[in-house]
Amino acid sequence: MDKSLRPAVIAGNWKMNKLRGEARALVEGILPALAKADCRVIACVPFTDLETVLEAARGSRLHIGAQNCHWAQSGAYTGEISAPMLAEMGVEYVILGHSERRQYFGETDATVNARLKAALASGLRVILCVGETLEQRQRGITAPVCSMQVRSALYEIPEAAMGDLLIAYEPVWAIGTGKTATAAQAGEVCGLIRDTVADLYSGRVAERLCIQYGGSMNPGNAAELLDQPDIDGGLIGGASLRAEEFAQIIQAASR
Ligand code: PEP
Repeated sequence: MDKSLRPAVIAGNWKMNKLRGEARALVEGILPALAKADCRVIACVPFTDLETVLEAARGSRLHIGAQNCHWAQSGAYTGEISAPMLAEMGVEYVILGHSERRQYFGETDATVNARLKAALASGLRVILCVGETLEQRQRGITAPVCSMQVRSALYEIPEAAMGDLLIAYEPVWAIGTGKTATAAQAGEVCGLIRDTVADLYSGRVAERLCIQYGGSMNPGNAAELLDQPDIDGGLIGGASLRAEEFAQIIQAASR
């Protein structure tokens, strides 16, 4: 498959970190790296930082995303944020199905699918996260687990919407643990995800789909991971909180 059809995409997932002043400083620290970047860069920040980072990034090449959205447009869902609320603010991306939401907040394949439909309907672009647990890897069921997560999330998603979707392969055992999948392991599962999308839609859709790797990506391992034919970018947690490290990953992705 022709990798040049897919622009590299580096996204930071700040998780539940950064007060507003810190968020502004981090964006200001990242912006210089964007001048020479040959990839798309996204910062997915806490809801409370969105307004601050949207303003700090205005006129720059930094794209802004949230880390979740609800499946309903509005209603009695205390504490939740809807896709239209994000879109109205000027937010462009949203992460859905992150393993921390699956693990701690009861996220299921069905709710990921519902959120995905709501996000796309509001014009948001989605970074859909899938990945196996350590136990699933040890049992040798990584391929069916990831394939099923992709199939469930994309249930009733029309081909026309696929241009607004990225998939991040994030092995749960590699997130925030310092353990990275080897480049070969990560590349293999990203290839399998692409095959699943080809099977669901077409080879043409699959070859245009950006697939990121996420799980302890850092300046030391980014180049090797990004060199894999089916890895088009990274979703980065810990290292995205430090401007210097994030800038080095952006540099590694600029090809
Ligand atoms: C993540 O939260 O999506 C992630 C990949 O985290 P980390 O880079 O810290 O493993």
